[in-house]
Amino acid sequence: MRYSSCYIPTLRESPSDAEVISHKLLLRAGMMRRLTSGIYIYLPLGLKILDKISAIVREEMNAAAFQELLMPMVQPADLWKETGRWEYYGQELLRFKDRNEREYCLGPTHEEVITDMVRGEVRSYRQLPIRLYQIQTKFRDEIRPRFGLMRGREFIMKDAYSFDADAAGAESSYKKMFKAYMRIFRRLGLKFRAVEADSGSIGGNFSHEFMVVADTGEDTIAFCHSCDYAANVERAEAVWRGETVQGDCLPCEKTGMPGARTVADVAALLNVPPAKIIKTLIFVVDNTPVAVLVRGDREANEIKLKNLLDAKVIHLAGPDIVKKVTNASCGFAGPVGLNLPIYADLELQGATDYITGANEADSHNTHVDLRRDVRVAAFADLRAITAEDICPRCGGKIAFTKGIEVGHVFMLGLKYSEAMHATFLDENGSERLMIMGCYGIGVSRIAAAAIEQNHDRYGIVFPPPLAPFECVLINLDQHNAVVTDTAEDIYSLLRSMGIDVLYDDRDERPGVKFKDADLLGAPMQLVLGNKGLARGVVECKDRRSGERCELVIENLRENFSLWARQVREHWEALYARQ
Ligand code: ATP
Ligand code: MG
Repeated sequence: MRYSSCYIPTLRESPSDAEVISHKLLLRAGMMRRLTSGIYIYLPLGLKILDKISAIVREEMNAAAFQELLMPMVQPADLWKETGRWEYYGQELLRFKDRNEREYCLGPTHEEVITDMVRGEVRSYRQLPIRLYQIQTKFRDEIRPRFGLMRGREFIMKDAYSFDADAAGAESSYKKMFKAYMRIFRRLGLKFRAVEADSGSIGGNFSHEFMVVADTGEDTIAFCHSCDYAANVERAEAVWRGETVQGDCLPCEKTGMPGARTVADVAALLNVPPAKIIKTLIFVVDNTPVAVLVRGDREANEIKLKNLLDAKVIHLAGPDIVKKVTNASCGFAGPVGLNLPIYADLELQGATDYITGANEADSHNTHVDLRRDVRVAAFADLRAITAEDICPRCGGKIAFTKGIEVGHVFMLGLKYSEAMHATFLDENGSERLMIMGCYGIGVSRIAAAAIEQNHDRYGIVFPPPLAPFECVLINLDQHNAVVTDTAEDIYSLLRSMGIDVLYDDRDERPGVKFKDADLLGAPMQLVLGNKGLARGVVECKDRRSGERCELVIENLRENFSLWARQVREHWEALYARQ
C-alpha cells in the first residue's frame, strides 16, 4: 500500500484520557478512535490487525473441526428468562424494547441463542457432537470500561460452543479447544500462560483461562516455582497446613477500644500481630446476609464463598445492612452472639484466643475461641492465596504475576441444556441432556494485549503475525526522480515477493517518516535515499532490536529474503523461549 493514499491519522502527542500504553499507542498510531465510553471505531490499520488475529483463530478453529456460523447480536429476552440470566446477569446486559414492547438484549455472549437453535434441530445421538463458532461483536455494559480495547463495552469475541452426547465426548471437545488455544496464542507470538480458572458452581478442573503476561493485566496469576501449577488467584487454593489446636483460653471478654475500627488499629492498641485478630465480613448472598471470618492479615475471597454456597449473586454488605444485622457500624462486627450463618476460613480452626469485634461501637472481644464461643456453619477455604502459601500440587513456593485474560475455555456441563431442555435420544431411545462447553477469545483485546507486551518508547513493536504491515519502505528523497524510480521498483519487487509492504511515498520530512514507521510497529524497515543509492544500497532496520544493515540493491530479492528470514528467526526464538 502507498502511504499517500492510506488513511493513517497518526498523532504526535498521547491523548490525555488514555491510561495504559496500548490504548495510547493504538490512538497515536491512527489505528482506532473513540466514539463514546468503551466504544471504538477500528480504523483501517486497526481492522487489519483484527483481521490477522481472526485469520489465525479461524484456521485453528477449522482445524479442530469447529464450523463457523454467525448469530444475531440482538437476542430475545424470553431465552434469557428461561435460563434465569435475565435476572442474574445484572446491569452488564443492555436491555431494550421494540415498537411492540417486546424485550430484547444486545448479546454479551450466546449460550442461550445457540442452545435454543440446537435443541430445535437435534433429535438423535447420531447428530452429535455439534461444534460451532463465530467471530462477532459483543456488547457488555461494563461498570468500568477502560484501557481502550482491553475492557470495552463493544468488543469482538470469538465464541465457540460444543454439544456432546456423553462425558467422554464433552471432554474431547474441551481438549480440542484447549489445544487449539495453545496453538493460537503461540502462533500470535504472545507470551502467555494457561491457568486454572474459576468454574463456578460446576466445579472440577474444567476451566482454563489464557493469560497474556503483562504488568498492566487486571488479573493476578498465582504460579509455582517448582511445578507447572498456575491459577487465577480467584481460584487458587490456599492450603491449610494443619497447625495444631491450642488448649483452652481464658473466657471471652468484651473490652472497650474507642475508635479502634481496623485490624491495624486493634493490633497497635493491644500490641498483637494481625494474625491474632479475626476479621468479620458481612456478605449478602442471594439476598441473605452471611458472615465470613478470616484472619486479620488475610483477604476474603468472594468467589470461593460464592462457590461454597452455590450462590448466583454475591456482594459485600453496605453500612445499612451491617448496622441492621450486627447492631454496630462497620469495623465492629464479630461472630460471638451473631445471629447469621457464619463461615470461617480453614486457617481459623487451627488455633484459639482471638480478638474479634463485639457488635457494639468501640468494643472488641478478646479471648475468643471459635469452637467454644461461636456456632460456625462450616470451615472452608475462603481466603486469597498469599506468597506465604505453598503450591497446592507440590508444596513448592508460590509467586505472582499479572495477566490479561485473552481466552477462556469452559466445560459447561448441563447448566444450559437442563435449563433450556436441550435433549436427544440415545442408542436405547432414552431422552438425555446434551453436555455443553463454551470457549471464548477476546479478539480485540488481543490487539491491546500484544501491544502491552511489545512496545518501546518509540511506539509499537508488533509480533510479525499480527503486524498491520511486514515492512515499511521509506523514500527519503521523494523529489529525486532517480531515487523515486528505484523506490517504486523496490516496492513492486517486494509486492511480487508476497511481502505486505507500506511504501511511504508522502511528501514529508525524513524525521516524520522515521517516527511514523517506528510508531506503526512493522517488524522491518527499508530506507532508500540519495546517498545510499549512489552506493547501490538500501538501508534496513530491524524494528525490535534496532539493528541496522545495508542490502545491495542489485540482488535485492535474495538479500531481502535472507535478512527477512533472520528477523523472523529472532522473533521465533523469542516465542520459543516460553
Ligand atoms: P473479564 O473477567 O475480563 O471481564 P470475562 O470472564 O467476563 O472477562 P468471558 O465471558 O470469558 O470474559 O469472555 C471471553 C473473552 O472475551 C475473555 O477471555 C476476554 O478476552 C474477552 N472479553 C471479555 N470482556 C471483554 C471486554 N469488556 N472488552 C474486551 N474483551 C473482553
Ligand atoms: Mg467480564
